[in-house]
Amino acid sequence: RVIKMASNENPLGVSPRVREVMEKCASQAFRYPQSGNPRLVKALASFYGVDAGRIFVGNGSDEVIDLLFRVRAVPGVHNAVAFRPCFGLYPTQAKMAGVELRQAPLKSDFSFDFPGLLKLVDENTTLVIVTSPDNPSGRAASVEELAALAGALPPACLLVVDEAYIEFAGAEYSLLSRLESLPNVALMRTFSKVYGLAGMRIGYAILPPAIADYLWRVRLPFSLNILAEEAALAALDDSEFREKTIELVKRGRVQLTEELRTMGCEVLPSLSNFIMFRTPEGAVGVKTLHGELLRRGIIIRALGGYHLPDWLRVSVGTDEENELFLRYTREILGA
Ligand SMILES: *Cc1c(COP(=O)(O)O)cnc(C)c1O
Repeated sequence: RVIKMASNENPLGVSPRVREVMEKCASQAFRYPQSGNPRLVKALASFYGVDAGRIFVGNGSDEVIDLLFRVRAVPGVHNAVAFRPCFGLYPTQAKMAGVELRQAPLKSDFSFDFPGLLKLVDENTTLVIVTSPDNPSGRAASVEELAALAGALPPACLLVVDEAYIEFAGAEYSLLSRLESLPNVALMRTFSKVYGLAGMRIGYAILPPAIADYLWRVRLPFSLNILAEEAALAALDDSEFREKTIELVKRGRVQLTEELRTMGCEVLPSLSNFIMFRTPEGAVGVKTLHGELLRRGIIIRALGGYHLPDWLRVSVGTDEENELFLRYTREILGA
């Protein structure tokens, strides 16, 4: 038996209701999706109480990030700014777009250094990207901090807040309710985490209308496929599954945090569906723990890819998966 706790997927899997809809819609797969995915756009607009002209949907947040770089920045002229470490896709897509990505280090406790970030912004910065809650730390910025950052940027600079994990922190951490007074803010969200549809590839953004319009003009016409669109519509309607997921994750992250701390591990406080931690001084190192868990069938994330070789990240699982992870970890650490 293999337990995957490495990619922050939904521990409950696919919602049964969504699965039913996808099965029912399989026979429609010979059709092209409706260009512009108008039903999903409308559903998202009404779900969030925003104008439909602000909504963009694509093949995962990945596509949204890629298009934002290409639409917002002229290669060799404009630059983008993010923190270091950051989600691996920002640097690769910036590079593919020929756009310089400037990175401000996070503080040593992995909290956000907004003054440091602002120092990298100049008149050619057209994108600033902040992930909140952040990956891999799990830390979230307050709306006051984010609104202040947006206000301090040059008017032509778009603040993109990647809110992939926002549902696990709570609406009070989102700039959503402030969008009307913040004309240079975009929010990116996804169906990959709380909605349990990572494999269907559905991301969306709530944008200043003019930027949403640009993105729609250049997006490949059918990048969000017909089953993905049906799945997203059903998932959005399934508040029961969403709430069950959030409840499970909140309970699980408290348990993982407390028990890892009891074993002497250093654990960052998480507002997300994963925990970043490291083993205690004098105990086996993170490499050994990672490898020994793997031998026992549990996959967690080594953070070398984030240039954090001394840290690990574990996604919150089901109660049973969390128990097993904790039991093996205790055993390996001899705690
Ligand atoms: C998981 C994750 C996403 C979601 O990406 P999709 O392409 O929508 O699956 C976006 N941003 C961050 C930081 C993530 O960790």
